[in-house]
Amino acid sequence: MRDDQWLKNKLDEIWSRFFSDIPKSDKVIIHFGRASRDRLGSIRLVNNTFSEIRINGLLKDPEVPEYVCEAVVAHELTHYVHGFGSNRPQLYRYPHRGGIVAREMINRGLGAVHYAAKDWTNSNWSTLYSSREKITHQRDE
Ligand SMILES: [Zn+2]
Repeated sequence: MRDDQWLKNKLDEIWSRFFSDIPKSDKVIIHFGRASRDRLGSIRLVNNTFSEIRINGLLKDPEVPEYVCEAVVAHELTHYVHGFGSNRPQLYRYPHRGGIVAREMINRGLGAVHYAAKDWTNSNWSTLYSSREKITHQRDE
């Protein structure tokens, strides 16, 4: 079962394995948000005190491979490292421009996960989203 505790464990695991040079902070919280078509995850700094990582609720679905969840968590953690949505010094002007997230993930040994997740979402995401959305709407009626 993928719940917030599962996510927290994923974050800890990814942090220890691939981001061990970055001091671990208890000021990062992570949880599932609502399902959305457009965003797999986000990170923001709350009250200048802690970082909140929100993961698309549809990633709880067992049809989404676990490596996709891992890639999304690692992507948000990369933003954290770059100083976006975090109290760390900002290393770049823009969070995505110039492929800096992919480059960071590749340098940290997360390239295969990054590209596999990209392939999977490119081929499956919108179908999965639409099928789940239908179910939700039927339930609402
Ligand atoms: Zn991003």
